[in-house]
Amino acid sequence: MDDRTYTADAEPGDTVTVAGWVHEVRDLGGIAFLILRDTTGKIQVKFEKDEMDDDLVETGLNVHRESVISVTGDVEEEPRAPTGVEVTPASVDVISEADPELPLDPSGKVDAELSTRLDNRTLDLRKDEVKAIFEIRAEVLRAVREQFRELGCTEINTPKIVATGTEGGTELFPITYFGQEAFMNQSPQLFKQLMVGSGLERVFEIGPIFRAEEHNTPRHLNEATSIDFESAFSDHTEAMDACEAVVKAAYEAVEANCQDALEALDLADEFEAPEGEFPRLTYEEAIERINATGELDEPLVWGDDLPTEGEHALGQDVGEHYFITDWPSEIKPFYIMDKDDEVSTGFDMMHPSMELVSGGQREHRYDHLVEGFEQQGLDPEAFDYYTKMFKYGMPPHAGWGLGGERLIMTMLGLGNIREAVLFPRDRQRLSP
Ligand code: ATP
Ligand code: MN
Repeated sequence: MDDRTYTADAEPGDTVTVAGWVHEVRDLGGIAFLILRDTTGKIQVKFEKDEMDDDLVETGLNVHRESVISVTGDVEEEPRAPTGVEVTPASVDVISEADPELPLDPSGKVDAELSTRLDNRTLDLRKDEVKAIFEIRAEVLRAVREQFRELGCTEINTPKIVATGTEGGTELFPITYFGQEAFMNQSPQLFKQLMVGSGLERVFEIGPIFRAEEHNTPRHLNEATSIDFESAFSDHTEAMDACEAVVKAAYEAVEANCQDALEALDLADEFEAPEGEFPRLTYEEAIERINATGELDEPLVWGDDLPTEGEHALGQDVGEHYFITDWPSEIKPFYIMDKDDEVSTGFDMMHPSMELVSGGQREHRYDHLVEGFEQQGLDPEAFDYYTKMFKYGMPPHAGWGLGGERLIMTMLGLGNIREAVLFPRDRQRLSP
């Protein structure tokens, strides 16, 4: 539609054709208003019954809410209209009539359950505050990509259908690949590591990961977006610097470029990009601080994973993004480089409410790596495609994986990670 004008661009004095959805029809007797909505906003269309063609008035006032229409007419200034202008229609064309019964009210006057919203995402995203989440998500991904390029990374895309998993066998989704067993990829971990040994050296990937999580929780998806970084000749501290830069860049871009979306979410006043360095606590300090809060029934001891209540207690205590470093080797994956017999280079980056990132320096020494596979109960033979490249010149390297939806969820204070995904996959949900 070449001659279509967005509602936001309709200026007094123009003759325009605006097209979009019927947001509302208000019939006041002699005069009636139709509010037309498009992606840029809304505009009022005025019907003066005595002065207009009966057919035109009838078409405009009988159309069901959420139908798609186009209106051609003159734009005039009208201070009482919601946007200060209104259109006096010369013609109204009903392009796609909506059913009078809608499964969801896009005006937001009637609240809907999350499951109803997810079943009807098309209607759900007609709401400004829902659309805003995905505008912000797009800006975050743009800013993250830009920051990675500034860090000298090359964007890569690795396979999502794989022969082996790395992050624990129980979380794998098996599939049949031409009669052979295969899996959906849980993480680009091994592939991105193979690329630091290539001529690329420093890479990032933004792509889906698939995990058959044991529990249905507000912060786990079965298909999530992983933002991954891996760099040759870097150690875990340099990887943490890159992680901090990427997360800050995402916040700063949203603050600079998404004020309308933040307003729609009612966050414009409180939204703040994190400033200063993220504190770096050792695991040992972390468990001491958690124990000191007295929030846990049983105090944590060395080697325990941090329970969710522990993460919350510590997050409250620290009050900003922070790193936990120096994790016990035994609870970090085998591909993480150890500092000594007990402590690894593994780190997590935390939002006060949950884990966002796991990373570390990687084991690049062939013999140690093969030993790690065995200790983990994995057959090194099955990972031959990976380990053998460590025999042909593999530099020391470090990296991390950041949960894209967790970043959006914590940034916007969403109660459920599913709100940050258009079509989430969980135990109950396989379509739409
Ligand atoms: P958690 O302990 O919170 O389940 P994890 O330690 O198993 O996460 P990692 O393997 O460290 O997850 O993955 C790196 C990052 O990817 C996590 O910090 C998180 O932000 C994100 N992530 C992992 N699994 C999921 C999931 N099922 N849904 C959404 N994001 C996830
Ligand atoms: Mn983790």
